[in-house]
Amino acid sequence: MTLKVLSVASEAVPLVKTGGLADVVGALPGALAPNGVELTTLLPGYPAVLAALGKKPKVLHKWESLLGEPARLLAGKLSDHPLLVLDAPGLFARDGGPYGDATGRDWRDNWKRFAAFGRAAADVAGGAVKGLTFDLVHAHDWQAAMTLAYLRFAPTGSTPPSVITIHNMAFQGHYGADVFAGLDLPPHAFAIDGVEYHGGVSFLKAGLAAASRVTTVSPTYAREIREPGFGMGLEGLIRGREADVSGIVNGIDPVVWNPAADPALPATYTIKTLARRAANTLALEAEFGLQAGSGPLFVVISRLTWQKGMDVLLEAADHLVGIGGRLALLGSGDAALESGFHAAAARHPGRIAVRIGYDEALSHRMLGGGDSILVPSRFEPCGLTQLYGLAYGCVPVVSRTGGLADTVIDVNLAARLAGVATGVQFDGVRYNTLADAITRTVGLFGQRETWRGLQRAGMKADFAWECSGQAYADLYARLVEAS
Ligand code: ADP
Repeated sequence: MTLKVLSVASEAVPLVKTGGLADVVGALPGALAPNGVELTTLLPGYPAVLAALGKKPKVLHKWESLLGEPARLLAGKLSDHPLLVLDAPGLFARDGGPYGDATGRDWRDNWKRFAAFGRAAADVAGGAVKGLTFDLVHAHDWQAAMTLAYLRFAPTGSTPPSVITIHNMAFQGHYGADVFAGLDLPPHAFAIDGVEYHGGVSFLKAGLAAASRVTTVSPTYAREIREPGFGMGLEGLIRGREADVSGIVNGIDPVVWNPAADPALPATYTIKTLARRAANTLALEAEFGLQAGSGPLFVVISRLTWQKGMDVLLEAADHLVGIGGRLALLGSGDAALESGFHAAAARHPGRIAVRIGYDEALSHRMLGGGDSILVPSRFEPCGLTQLYGLAYGCVPVVSRTGGLADTVIDVNLAARLAGVATGVQFDGVRYNTLADAITRTVGLFGQRETWRGLQRAGMKADFAWECSGQAYADLYARLVEAS
């Protein structure tokens, strides 16, 4: 029997992406299909999503007033899988990003945009739209969380079992109590086990309180978010639901991330032809204007934010160069970090080079030519770039937190003797710990056989989606059976 699941999210590759959430939502339908699950994805109708539907998409449903806005439900395809799109021009037909304008400022009505999205998703999941039925609904992050609050407090049909996945606890969708009246929920929903949070409204909390099960994207992060530093105010709720919270590590799409057949690379290679990477390194040095050197070429592909530890990397940049490393960085984010990295590049011409912006193809070339990828995150629910690094023989150097702790094996003595080490881990994101990890990495790079061993073990680590797809499918099946 095929299980029919509605996956509700605010982004999905290849249509709209601001981070790892989009990679996961885009990959899930393909990961679940072999496990007997038909996943239908529901996305907001941003301009780029509507454009992908073509001129005359099929209209499945119309709302005269979705929290006051006219809206339509359109049908399409996400790669080869079913896609539903909420076309509500008053909410989503805007230039800029999914959550803010071109300058990065959040839209003031985000509460209404994603409440309406949740209201529509609850109608669809509960069977209120003719011709569509689902066995389970899976909501991703705060933008989709209100789906579960509407199913719980104001259902228009049935209430199927539900899963909510936290891709990043740092983003919760908090608003003042004044928005509650606009949510169209019954008064008793404004309660401590409902949508209320410290006198205001929290979308993520509302979803976590209503979901049948809570998942996050690594087992370590699932444990970490019970603690104040990681739970970001929701640790009490997570502890209270401890038995319902688990972690499933993200996979990577082997069609997109495969050095043996990556069209972005000057030279493709396999675990047996690692020497061919040298051509990619040369090309990358030329592209970034970096001098050749005997030390490792470190790469960074990241949002430039406090979460990602980029301020600490900036502090450690002089040390990295001082011991013979070079650094190529691609990213964008905080203005102070952007200018800080520009200044570091100006101090170390030919040793540090920076590209501010978002460039998918360049990120592939960096993984195919860089020696080591730095991921010094203060917290990291799963992290994807270290997984790409493993697959590309670009040895990850990571802080021991969240998914980074679960996916990289530190090259300590035991791991080295067993031949299973895949990277370098360090504890606590501070200047000393990161500088020490960089020093260790430069030392390891000088031991050619050890380095090759790290590269090969990493390339053998198989973080493809099969395993995670099976884990989600098992969870769905258990919940549907119990319902
Ligand atoms: P997060 O979602 O917290 O930003 P993840 O590691 O989970 O971090 O996912 C980030 C995704 O975005 C990865 O696919 C990464 O390669 C990509 N990415 C981040 N910054 C850039 C950039 N400047 N250019 C290209 N890809 C980027």
